Amino acid sequence: MLTHSIADTTSAEFLEAPKELDIATDRYSHAARTKHEREMHKLEKRLCRLTGQAIVDFNMIEEGDRVMVCVSGGKDSYSMLDILLKLQARAPVRFELIAVNLDQKQPGFPEHILPEYLKSRAVPFHIEEQDTYSIVKRVVKEGKTMCSLCSRLRRGALYKVASELGCNKIALGHHRDDILQTFLLNLFFGGRLKSMPPKLLSDEGNHIVIRPMAYVSETDLQAWSEEQAFPIIPCTLCGSQENLQRKQVGNLLRQWDQQFPGRINTMFSALTKAVPSHLLDPNLFDFKGLQTTGQADADGDKAFDEERFSPAPAVHASGVLGELMGNSAKRNAWSD
Ligand code: SF4
Repeated sequence: MLTHSIADTTSAEFLEAPKELDIATDRYSHAARTKHEREMHKLEKRLCRLTGQAIVDFNMIEEGDRVMVCVSGGKDSYSMLDILLKLQARAPVRFELIAVNLDQKQPGFPEHILPEYLKSRAVPFHIEEQDTYSIVKRVVKEGKTMCSLCSRLRRGALYKVASELGCNKIALGHHRDDILQTFLLNLFFGGRLKSMPPKLLSDEGNHIVIRPMAYVSETDLQAWSEEQAFPIIPCTLCGSQENLQRKQVGNLLRQWDQQFPGRINTMFSALTKAVPSHLLDPNLFDFKGLQTTGQADADGDKAFDEERFSPAPAVHASGVLGELMGNSAKRNAWSD
């Protein structure tokens, strides 16, 4: 039994703490450790399950694929590589993973960090050195944001490397929150209903770009990155300002998540259930040719009814998505 509380203990006593206190402290730290271990085990399972589910839902990885995993040195791409390596070991199909980092020659880039880490994980890797930093600095006027040209150059460089390495797929570490942010940015500032697809054809038409972390929340990636102590390379080396609009939208999403738990999941689910006949894009639905059918349509518009919405479910994405996708058997083959 604990006979002292720490508050009751004088400094002398504390130095010579009684045995019971030692035992109780040990028990406490053991309990805390095991709780933490349980949480991390659950987190690992969730990351594998959601990644496996996204891979299955969008048929991202197939037998014989050679996947170039883009690793920047940030938490998202380290986590993606880590989870893909775990899935590779248990997946029902055989595929290769090759980690690629683009060293853009930003001042102070710690070039030894990624090679050391990748060697320690025994992952085949390639570091592509291209001084896009100097080009961007030369071309973009002082005070203007460099990100758009920098990303275009990076994209071109990565496609070239993928071809040289014989990779047919390119994996990027964007997650659920990136996808929602992009959706809101397009909605608020771009005037388009458009987001970041989980799978797309590269603009030169030769590769399939995949985002295996599409269902994973940023919070989970942050927690996993801290747990694994990945050697993070700061993303501020270029000295460019953060995209203010993206930052604002990110803050908005975080606030909503705190105030209305479940809203982010509901919004994300909405991206998987577009209803073209209830939007206004004549390219997606033939409004001009719409004719009466004489048949009742359960999904038809209740034109004069007020829309009613059930409250946003306060559940994790896996719950909402799991119900929506119904692909658990295939997913389990990847993640269990
Ligand atoms: S933050 Fe820097 S490295 Fe990243 S896209 Fe912008 S200019 Fe390029």
